[in-house]
Amino acid sequence: MNATPLFPRVALIGFGLIGGSIARAARAQGLAGEIVITDHSAKTRARVAELGIVDRVAETNAEAVKGADLVILCIPVGACGPVAQEIAPHLKPGAIVSDVGSVKGAVVRDVAPHLPANVHFVPAHPVAGTEHSGPDSGFAELFIDRWCILTPPEGTDPTAVERLRAFWAAIGAKVEIMTPDHHDLVLAITSHLPHLIAYTIVGTADELGKVTSSEVMKFSAGGFRDFTRIAASDPTMWRDVFLANKDAVLEMLGTFNEDLSKLTRAIRRGDGEALFDHFTSTRAIRRGIVEIGQDSPAPDFGRPHANLAKKPD
Ligand code: NAP
Repeated sequence: MNATPLFPRVALIGFGLIGGSIARAARAQGLAGEIVITDHSAKTRARVAELGIVDRVAETNAEAVKGADLVILCIPVGACGPVAQEIAPHLKPGAIVSDVGSVKGAVVRDVAPHLPANVHFVPAHPVAGTEHSGPDSGFAELFIDRWCILTPPEGTDPTAVERLRAFWAAIGAKVEIMTPDHHDLVLAITSHLPHLIAYTIVGTADELGKVTSSEVMKFSAGGFRDFTRIAASDPTMWRDVFLANKDAVLEMLGTFNEDLSKLTRAIRRGDGEALFDHFTSTRAIRRGIVEIGQDSPAPDFGRPHANLAKKPD
Protein backbone atom coordinates (compact mmCIF):
# COMPACT_ATOMS: atom_id res chain seq x y z
CA MET A 1 0.00 0.00 0.00
CA ASN A 2 1.34 3.48 -0.96
CA ALA A 3 1.66 6.06 1.84
CA THR A 4 0.86 9.01 -0.49
CA PRO A 5 -1.70 8.33 -3.19
CA LEU A 6 -0.55 9.05 -6.76
CA PHE A 7 -3.81 10.92 -7.42
CA PRO A 8 -6.01 12.65 -4.82
CA ARG A 9 -9.16 11.73 -6.78
CA VAL A 10 -9.66 9.17 -9.55
CA ALA A 11 -12.92 9.00 -11.52
CA LEU A 12 -13.84 5.92 -13.55
CA ILE A 13 -16.66 6.10 -16.08
CA GLY A 14 -18.00 2.60 -16.72
CA PHE A 15 -17.76 -0.18 -14.15
CA GLY A 16 -17.40 -3.43 -16.08
CA LEU A 17 -14.49 -5.85 -16.30
CA ILE A 18 -11.84 -3.18 -16.89
CA GLY A 19 -13.26 -0.30 -14.78
CA GLY A 20 -14.02 -2.73 -11.96
CA SER A 21 -10.52 -4.22 -12.10
CA ILE A 22 -8.84 -0.79 -12.10
CA ALA A 23 -10.94 0.28 -9.09
CA ARG A 24 -10.12 -2.88 -7.14
CA ALA A 25 -6.40 -2.72 -7.99
CA ALA A 26 -6.09 1.04 -7.28
CA ARG A 27 -7.81 0.55 -3.95
CA ALA A 28 -5.61 -2.41 -3.03
CA GLN A 29 -2.49 -0.38 -3.82
CA GLY A 30 -3.73 2.86 -2.21
CA LEU A 31 -3.19 4.82 -5.44
CA ALA A 32 -6.12 7.22 -5.02
CA GLY A 33 -7.20 9.43 -2.14
CA GLU A 34 -10.76 8.91 -3.37
CA ILE A 35 -12.21 6.65 -6.07
CA VAL A 36 -15.43 7.88 -7.68
CA ILE A 37 -17.22 5.79 -10.27
CA THR A 38 -20.26 6.06 -12.44
CA ASP A 39 -21.98 3.89 -15.03
CA HIS A 40 -24.91 4.62 -17.31
CA SER A 41 -26.78 1.63 -15.94
CA ALA A 42 -28.65 2.32 -12.67
CA LYS A 43 -28.51 -1.41 -11.92
CA THR A 44 -24.69 -1.38 -12.18
CA ARG A 45 -24.42 1.74 -10.00
CA ALA A 46 -26.59 0.07 -7.35
CA ARG A 47 -24.47 -3.09 -7.51
CA VAL A 48 -21.20 -1.12 -7.09
CA ALA A 49 -22.64 0.72 -4.06
CA GLU A 50 -23.59 -2.67 -2.63
CA LEU A 51 -20.09 -4.08 -3.24
CA GLY A 52 -18.62 -1.20 -1.21
CA ILE A 53 -15.31 -1.17 -3.09
CA VAL A 54 -15.22 2.52 -4.09
CA ASP A 55 -15.58 5.72 -2.12
CA ARG A 56 -18.47 7.23 -4.09
CA VAL A 57 -20.91 6.25 -6.82
CA ALA A 58 -21.97 9.29 -8.86
CA GLU A 59 -25.30 9.45 -10.70
CA THR A 60 -23.96 11.16 -13.83
CA ASN A 61 -20.73 11.35 -15.84
CA ALA A 62 -20.53 15.12 -15.23
CA GLU A 63 -20.84 14.71 -11.46
CA ALA A 64 -18.25 11.90 -11.43
CA VAL A 65 -15.46 13.89 -13.10
CA LYS A 66 -15.86 17.08 -11.04
CA GLY A 67 -12.62 17.69 -9.10
CA ALA A 68 -10.99 14.46 -10.38
CA ASP A 69 -7.25 14.48 -11.06
CA LEU A 70 -7.41 11.36 -13.22
CA VAL A 71 -10.45 10.44 -15.30
CA ILE A 72 -10.51 7.05 -17.08
CA LEU A 73 -13.19 6.16 -19.61
CA CYS A 74 -13.80 2.41 -19.15
CA ILE A 75 -16.60 2.14 -21.69
CA PRO A 76 -16.99 0.73 -25.21
CA VAL A 77 -14.88 2.52 -27.84
CA GLY A 78 -17.96 3.88 -29.66
CA ALA A 79 -19.20 5.63 -26.49
CA CYS A 80 -15.94 7.55 -25.82
CA GLY A 81 -16.60 10.54 -28.16
CA PRO A 82 -20.08 11.42 -26.83
CA VAL A 83 -18.95 10.92 -23.21
CA ALA A 84 -15.90 13.17 -23.76
CA GLN A 85 -18.20 15.87 -25.12
CA GLU A 86 -20.47 15.49 -22.08
CA ILE A 87 -17.71 15.67 -19.45
CA ALA A 88 -15.52 18.34 -21.11
CA PRO A 89 -17.09 21.39 -19.37
CA HIS A 90 -16.80 19.72 -15.95
CA LEU A 91 -13.13 18.66 -16.01
CA LYS A 92 -10.71 20.07 -13.46
CA PRO A 93 -7.91 22.16 -15.05
CA GLY A 94 -4.73 20.06 -15.11
CA ALA A 95 -6.63 16.75 -14.95
CA ILE A 96 -5.38 13.73 -16.90
CA VAL A 97 -8.05 12.16 -19.13
CA SER A 98 -7.43 8.61 -20.27
CA ASP A 99 -9.34 5.58 -21.54
CA VAL A 100 -8.87 1.81 -21.87
CA GLY A 101 -10.29 1.25 -25.36
CA SER A 102 -9.01 -1.65 -27.47
CA VAL A 103 -8.66 0.68 -30.49
CA LYS A 104 -6.63 3.87 -30.22
CA GLY A 105 -6.82 5.79 -33.53
CA ALA A 106 -10.61 6.14 -33.37
CA VAL A 107 -10.57 7.10 -29.68
CA VAL A 108 -7.98 9.85 -30.30
CA ARG A 109 -10.03 11.10 -33.27
CA ASP A 110 -13.34 11.07 -31.33
CA VAL A 111 -12.19 12.31 -27.92
CA ALA A 112 -9.37 14.86 -28.45
CA PRO A 113 -11.47 17.53 -30.23
CA HIS A 114 -13.85 17.81 -27.27
CA LEU A 115 -11.27 18.25 -24.51
CA PRO A 116 -10.29 21.70 -23.21
CA ALA A 117 -6.67 22.79 -23.71
CA ASN A 118 -6.04 22.82 -19.95
CA VAL A 119 -6.33 19.02 -19.48
CA HIS A 120 -3.89 16.29 -20.54
CA PHE A 121 -5.15 13.51 -22.81
CA VAL A 122 -3.19 10.25 -22.50
CA PRO A 123 -5.03 7.34 -24.17
CA ALA A 124 -4.24 3.84 -22.91
CA HIS A 125 -5.03 0.20 -23.63
CA PRO A 126 -4.40 -2.47 -21.01
CA VAL A 127 -3.82 -5.65 -23.04
CA ALA A 128 -5.53 -7.84 -20.47
CA GLY A 129 -8.99 -9.25 -20.20
CA THR A 130 -11.32 -12.18 -19.91
CA GLU A 131 -14.55 -13.09 -21.71
CA HIS A 132 -16.58 -11.85 -18.72
CA SER A 133 -18.18 -8.45 -18.29
CA GLY A 134 -20.23 -6.50 -15.77
CA PRO A 135 -19.63 -5.11 -12.25
CA ASP A 136 -18.80 -8.47 -10.63
CA SER A 137 -16.30 -9.60 -13.29
CA GLY A 138 -13.32 -7.41 -12.31
CA PHE A 139 -10.43 -8.45 -10.08
CA ALA A 140 -7.42 -6.58 -8.72
CA GLU A 141 -4.82 -8.93 -10.25
CA LEU A 142 -6.01 -8.62 -13.87
CA PHE A 143 -3.17 -6.34 -15.00
CA ILE A 144 -0.24 -8.06 -13.28
CA ASP A 145 2.53 -8.72 -15.82
CA ARG A 146 0.25 -7.66 -18.71
CA TRP A 147 1.12 -4.84 -21.08
CA CYS A 148 -0.55 -1.45 -20.96
CA ILE A 149 0.07 0.58 -24.13
CA LEU A 150 -0.06 4.37 -23.89
CA THR A 151 -0.57 6.38 -27.08
CA PRO A 152 -0.13 10.05 -26.10
CA PRO A 153 -0.68 12.49 -28.98
CA GLU A 154 2.39 14.47 -30.04
CA GLY A 155 3.16 17.33 -27.68
CA THR A 156 1.49 15.74 -24.61
CA ASP A 157 3.02 16.94 -21.34
CA PRO A 158 5.64 14.29 -20.43
CA THR A 159 4.83 14.67 -16.72
CA ALA A 160 1.23 13.62 -17.37
CA VAL A 161 2.43 10.60 -19.37
CA GLU A 162 4.81 9.68 -16.55
CA ARG A 163 2.07 9.96 -13.91
CA LEU A 164 -0.19 7.63 -15.88
CA ARG A 165 2.70 5.24 -16.48
CA ALA A 166 3.33 5.17 -12.71
CA PHE A 167 -0.37 4.42 -12.09
CA TRP A 168 -0.41 1.43 -14.46
CA ALA A 169 2.94 0.18 -13.20
CA ALA A 170 1.65 0.33 -9.61
CA ILE A 171 -1.26 -1.98 -10.48
CA GLY A 172 1.17 -4.46 -11.98
CA ALA A 173 1.29 -3.62 -15.70
CA LYS A 174 4.33 -3.31 -17.95
CA VAL A 175 3.96 -0.05 -19.85
CA GLU A 176 4.93 0.69 -23.45
CA ILE A 177 4.39 3.82 -25.53
CA MET A 178 3.55 3.80 -29.25
CA THR A 179 1.55 5.74 -31.84
CA PRO A 180 -2.19 5.03 -32.15
CA ASP A 181 -1.81 3.75 -35.73
CA HIS A 182 0.96 1.34 -34.80
CA HIS A 183 -1.08 0.11 -31.84
CA ASP A 184 -4.10 -0.54 -34.07
CA LEU A 185 -2.06 -2.52 -36.59
CA VAL A 186 -0.36 -4.69 -33.94
CA LEU A 187 -3.62 -5.37 -32.09
CA ALA A 188 -5.44 -6.14 -35.35
CA ILE A 189 -3.29 -9.26 -35.74
CA THR A 190 -2.75 -10.22 -32.09
CA SER A 191 -6.27 -9.67 -30.82
CA HIS A 192 -8.89 -8.43 -33.27
CA LEU A 193 -8.36 -11.00 -36.04
CA PRO A 194 -8.28 -13.96 -33.60
CA HIS A 195 -11.59 -12.76 -32.15
CA LEU A 196 -13.08 -12.48 -35.65
CA ILE A 197 -11.93 -16.01 -36.47
CA ALA A 198 -13.39 -17.33 -33.21
CA TYR A 199 -16.70 -15.56 -33.82
CA THR A 200 -16.75 -17.04 -37.35
CA ILE A 201 -15.81 -20.62 -36.51
CA VAL A 202 -18.20 -20.87 -33.56
CA GLY A 203 -21.00 -19.53 -35.78
CA THR A 204 -20.11 -21.99 -38.56
CA ALA A 205 -19.98 -24.93 -36.15
CA ASP A 206 -23.33 -23.86 -34.73
CA GLU A 207 -24.79 -24.03 -38.25
CA LEU A 208 -23.31 -27.52 -38.64
CA GLY A 209 -24.51 -28.41 -35.17
CA LYS A 210 -28.06 -27.98 -36.39
CA VAL A 211 -27.33 -30.84 -38.80
CA THR A 212 -25.31 -33.01 -36.46
CA SER A 213 -27.57 -32.36 -33.43
CA SER A 214 -25.58 -32.09 -30.18
CA GLU A 215 -22.25 -33.52 -31.39
CA VAL A 216 -20.55 -30.14 -31.77
CA MET A 217 -21.07 -29.52 -28.05
CA LYS A 218 -20.28 -33.09 -27.08
CA PHE A 219 -16.90 -33.28 -28.83
CA SER A 220 -16.00 -29.61 -28.31
CA ALA A 221 -12.74 -30.36 -26.43
CA GLY A 222 -11.02 -30.95 -29.78
CA GLY A 223 -10.07 -27.27 -30.22
CA PHE A 224 -13.56 -25.83 -30.63
CA ARG A 225 -13.96 -25.27 -26.88
CA ASP A 226 -11.04 -22.81 -26.80
CA PHE A 227 -12.61 -20.77 -29.61
CA THR A 228 -15.92 -20.65 -27.72
CA ARG A 229 -14.22 -18.88 -24.80
CA ILE A 230 -13.08 -16.04 -27.07
CA ALA A 231 -16.38 -15.98 -28.96
CA ALA A 232 -18.22 -15.43 -25.66
CA SER A 233 -16.66 -11.95 -25.35
CA ASP A 234 -18.88 -8.91 -24.96
CA PRO A 235 -20.84 -8.22 -28.21
CA THR A 236 -21.01 -4.42 -27.72
CA MET A 237 -17.29 -4.10 -27.09
CA TRP A 238 -16.35 -6.21 -30.10
CA ARG A 239 -18.86 -4.61 -32.46
CA ASP A 240 -17.20 -1.28 -31.62
CA VAL A 241 -13.67 -2.69 -32.06
CA PHE A 242 -14.38 -3.87 -35.63
CA LEU A 243 -16.17 -0.66 -36.58
CA ALA A 244 -13.37 1.48 -35.13
CA ASN A 245 -10.37 -0.52 -36.43
CA LYS A 246 -11.83 -1.31 -39.85
CA ASP A 247 -8.77 -0.52 -42.00
CA ALA A 248 -6.16 -2.44 -40.00
CA VAL A 249 -8.46 -5.45 -39.54
CA LEU A 250 -9.27 -5.57 -43.28
CA GLU A 251 -5.54 -5.40 -44.08
CA MET A 252 -4.76 -8.32 -41.73
CA LEU A 253 -7.79 -10.25 -42.96
CA GLY A 254 -6.42 -9.97 -46.53
CA THR A 255 -3.10 -11.51 -45.42
CA PHE A 256 -4.93 -14.18 -43.42
CA ASN A 257 -7.06 -15.16 -46.44
CA GLU A 258 -3.92 -15.53 -48.58
CA ASP A 259 -2.33 -17.80 -45.96
CA LEU A 260 -5.51 -19.82 -45.64
CA SER A 261 -5.53 -20.29 -49.42
CA LYS A 262 -1.94 -21.61 -49.25
CA LEU A 263 -2.91 -24.19 -46.61
CA THR A 264 -6.07 -25.08 -48.56
CA ARG A 265 -3.90 -25.73 -51.63
CA ALA A 266 -1.47 -27.87 -49.61
CA ILE A 267 -4.35 -30.01 -48.33
CA ARG A 268 -5.88 -30.31 -51.80
CA ARG A 269 -2.53 -31.35 -53.32
CA GLY A 270 -1.67 -33.69 -50.47
CA ASP A 271 1.45 -31.60 -49.77
CA GLY A 272 2.31 -32.99 -46.31
CA GLU A 273 5.69 -31.27 -46.26
CA ALA A 274 4.13 -27.81 -46.61
CA LEU A 275 1.64 -28.58 -43.84
CA PHE A 276 4.35 -30.01 -41.55
CA ASP A 277 6.64 -27.00 -42.08
CA HIS A 278 3.84 -24.56 -41.37
CA PHE A 279 2.74 -26.35 -38.19
CA THR A 280 6.36 -26.55 -37.01
CA SER A 281 6.80 -22.79 -37.32
CA THR A 282 3.55 -22.06 -35.45
CA ARG A 283 4.54 -24.43 -32.66
CA ALA A 284 7.74 -22.39 -32.22
CA ILE A 285 5.64 -19.22 -31.87
CA ARG A 286 3.61 -20.80 -29.06
CA ARG A 287 6.84 -21.84 -27.30
CA GLY A 288 8.16 -18.27 -27.67
CA ILE A 289 5.01 -16.86 -26.03
CA VAL A 290 5.42 -19.21 -23.07
CA GLU A 291 9.15 -18.40 -22.83
CA ILE A 292 8.52 -14.65 -22.45
CA GLY A 293 5.94 -15.34 -19.73
CA GLN A 294 2.84 -14.37 -21.72
CA ASP A 295 1.16 -17.71 -20.99
CA SER A 296 1.40 -20.72 -18.73
CA PRO A 297 3.44 -23.72 -19.91
CA ALA A 298 0.86 -26.04 -18.29
CA PRO A 299 -0.79 -28.38 -20.82
CA ASP A 300 -4.33 -27.51 -21.93
CA PHE A 301 -4.02 -23.98 -20.44
CA GLY A 302 -3.69 -25.52 -16.98
CA ARG A 303 -7.21 -26.95 -16.93
CA PRO A 304 -7.55 -29.46 -14.10
CA HIS A 305 -8.00 -33.07 -15.17
CA ALA A 306 -9.83 -35.61 -13.05
CA ASN A 307 -7.81 -38.47 -11.59
CA LEU A 308 -8.51 -42.01 -12.74
CA ALA A 309 -10.41 -43.87 -10.04
CA LYS A 310 -7.96 -46.15 -8.21
CA LYS A 311 -8.43 -49.83 -8.97
CA PRO A 312 -9.49 -51.74 -5.86
CA ASP A 313 -6.56 -53.88 -4.56
P1 NAP B 1 -17.95 -4.12 -19.80
O1 NAP B 1 -17.59 -5.14 -18.77
O2 NAP B 1 -19.14 -4.34 -20.68
O3 NAP B 1 -18.09 -2.71 -19.07
C1 NAP B 1 -18.40 -1.52 -19.73
C2 NAP B 1 -19.30 -0.73 -18.80
O4 NAP B 1 -19.48 0.59 -19.33
C3 NAP B 1 -20.68 -1.35 -18.65
O5 NAP B 1 -21.05 -1.33 -17.30
C4 NAP B 1 -21.54 -0.42 -19.50
O6 NAP B 1 -22.88 -0.42 -19.07
C5 NAP B 1 -20.87 0.90 -19.26
N1 NAP B 1 -21.15 1.92 -20.27
C6 NAP B 1 -21.37 1.76 -21.59
N2 NAP B 1 -21.57 2.96 -22.18
C7 NAP B 1 -21.49 3.88 -21.18
C8 NAP B 1 -21.63 5.29 -21.14
N3 NAP B 1 -21.93 5.97 -22.25
N4 NAP B 1 -21.48 5.95 -19.95
C9 NAP B 1 -21.21 5.25 -18.80
N5 NAP B 1 -21.08 3.90 -18.79
C10 NAP B 1 -21.21 3.22 -19.97
O7 NAP B 1 -16.72 -3.86 -20.78
P2 NAP B 1 -15.13 -3.95 -20.51
O8 NAP B 1 -14.69 -5.30 -20.90
O9 NAP B 1 -14.83 -3.41 -19.16
O10 NAP B 1 -14.64 -2.97 -21.66
C11 NAP B 1 -14.55 -1.58 -21.46
C12 NAP B 1 -13.49 -1.01 -22.40
O11 NAP B 1 -12.26 -1.73 -22.16
C13 NAP B 1 -13.80 -1.18 -23.89
O12 NAP B 1 -13.46 0.01 -24.56
C14 NAP B 1 -12.87 -2.30 -24.33
O13 NAP B 1 -12.47 -2.12 -25.69
C15 NAP B 1 -11.71 -2.14 -23.37
N6 NAP B 1 -10.95 -3.38 -23.09
C16 NAP B 1 -11.61 -4.55 -22.84
C17 NAP B 1 -10.88 -5.71 -22.60
C18 NAP B 1 -11.59 -7.04 -22.35
O14 NAP B 1 -10.97 -8.11 -22.50
N7 NAP B 1 -12.84 -7.05 -21.96
C19 NAP B 1 -9.48 -5.67 -22.55
C20 NAP B 1 -8.85 -4.44 -22.74
C21 NAP B 1 -9.59 -3.30 -23.01
P3 NAP B 1 -23.93 -1.47 -19.71
O15 NAP B 1 -23.34 -2.85 -19.62
O16 NAP B 1 -25.13 -1.30 -18.86
O17 NAP B 1 -24.14 -1.03 -21.13
